[in-house]
Amino acid sequence: MQAVFDDYVAAAGLATELVNTAPGVWHGEDQLPDDATLAAFVGAYGLSGDGDLAAVHELRDRLRAVLDLRDEEAIEREASVLVGRGLGTVGLEPDERGRLQWIARPAADATLADRLALIGGVGVLGALRTLGPERFRDCASDTCSGVFIDTSRPGRRRYCMPDLCGNRANVAAYRARQKASGGLPDVQRQQRPPR
Ligand SMILES: [Zn+2]
Repeated sequence: MQAVFDDYVAAAGLATELVNTAPGVWHGEDQLPDDATLAAFVGAYGLSGDGDLAAVHELRDRLRAVLDLRDEEAIEREASVLVGRGLGTVGLEPDERGRLQWIARPAADATLADRLALIGGVGVLGALRTLGPERFRDCASDTCSGVFIDTSRPGRRRYCMPDLCGNRANVAAYRARQKASGGLPDVQRQQRPPR
C-alpha cells in the first residue's frame, strides 16, 4: 500500500484498524500478539511484516494518542511527526488509470513501523483536511474503549468496529428493553435517543 494523498480513506481506515488491535480495546488481549498476526494484518494492506513487532506496538500507541486528540492544530502537528518519520520522497505518479496522483514514498531504510507511521499520518491529515476534527471520535459502545476516524460520507458512524460494537450495543439495548418491560421502571427506554 502506498500513501496516496487523495486516497486518505484507505489510509485512515488502516489507522483506525491498527489502533483498535490494542489490548486496551480488547480487555487486555492484544490482537497483534506475534509476528504471524502482524504479517496477516499488514498483508491485507499489501505490506509485508519484517519482525519489528515491538516497534509496531509502540507506533500503535502513538497513533492512538493522535486519534484521541480533538483539537485540529494538535492533530495536524502530531500526525505530521508520524509522516516525517517514514517519509522518503513525495511526487506525482500515474495510478492504474493513468491519472497523476500525489504519492508519498517511504524512505529506503524505513522499517515496517515507519511505513505504517507514514500511511497512518497521511490518512489522519487527509481526513482532517477534508472532513475536520469532529470526525475523530470515541466508540459509542459503553463497553468499548476504541476510537475511529469517520470517513463515511454522511459522517454518522458511531462504532469503532461497526459489526462488533454496533451489534453488542444493540443486544445490550434489547436486553435493557426486555428487562424494562418485565415490570421495572423503563428508564433506559425513555432516556435513550432514537436510532
Ligand atoms: Zn468499539
